[in-house]
Amino acid sequence: MTEIPKNHPRYESLMAREQIIAGVEKGMTSRQGLIAQGRGEAFDYLIGEKTIDSADYAEAVAVCLLLLAESPVISVNGNAAALSPADLVMLSQLTGAKLEVNLFHRTEERIQKIIDELKENGADVVLGENAEPLLPLDHERAKVERVGIYDADVIFVPLEDGDRCKVLADMKKLVIAVDLNPLSRTAQTAHVSIIDNLKRALPNMIDMIPDFKNMEEEDLWEIVQAYDNNVVLMDAIETMKENLTAKQNEVLGINPDEN
Ligand code: ATP
Ligand code: MG
Repeated sequence: MTEIPKNHPRYESLMAREQIIAGVEKGMTSRQGLIAQGRGEAFDYLIGEKTIDSADYAEAVAVCLLLLAESPVISVNGNAAALSPADLVMLSQLTGAKLEVNLFHRTEERIQKIIDELKENGADVVLGENAEPLLPLDHERAKVERVGIYDADVIFVPLEDGDRCKVLADMKKLVIAVDLNPLSRTAQTAHVSIIDNLKRALPNMIDMIPDFKNMEEEDLWEIVQAYDNNVVLMDAIETMKENLTAKQNEVLGINPDEN
């Protein structure tokens, strides 16, 4: 890994980049994953590289849904496994959600490498090897495990592609997506769209679990039912617009308070 000084203003983002590169070198992450990371970085810049309040709220709702679900599944791809393997395992253990490796650019070798990585990070069981073409998509992308994603009622999909997200939603599954791009088809189709960096979203969700675990199911349902995903999407877009306007004013030397 390239040495990155801790005081570098882009430290977090550069570290994540190194993790994705290490994922490619280990054979877990696809080369396309490098590009997906770049797209994410660009949107993270626009959101201010922090968890905005509406994302924090979406993360709370996601935790409630995972705790309420009968058969929740966390879908893991090559980028997620490279960025946050330990947190994915922890989220699975604390919510009872199964882990399933599910890849857009599927190869059995990459599936196995990601399973090994999750097991090295403490996972007992990781699904993905026995996937069958059960989704209405072209052959490789259609593959999921019958006892995992296919039978799940709630699916947490960090960095999922738009087509698959839509297919899962069409199958009446509740989809929670983590995607920094509020304009992506994934973010537009999921039921709960977390517009945040996966590396910030997961630890934040893990921190919230003990409080929600102490609550009655009825109260968790109330939180879930009050949720409107469009409000969260609009807030993320609005925040990006405000950040751009603030930067524009700075460049032009305009003080908005004087107008
Ligand atoms: P669509 O959803 O419109 O089909 P896509 O899925 O084809 O788009 P990709 O670039 O393949 O787009 O998906 C990667 C998505 O993941 C991007 O929208 C990017 O913003 C997001 N992303 C990448 N890295 C992260 C990250 N660390 N945290 C959160 N989101 C990320
Ligand atoms: Mg997407």
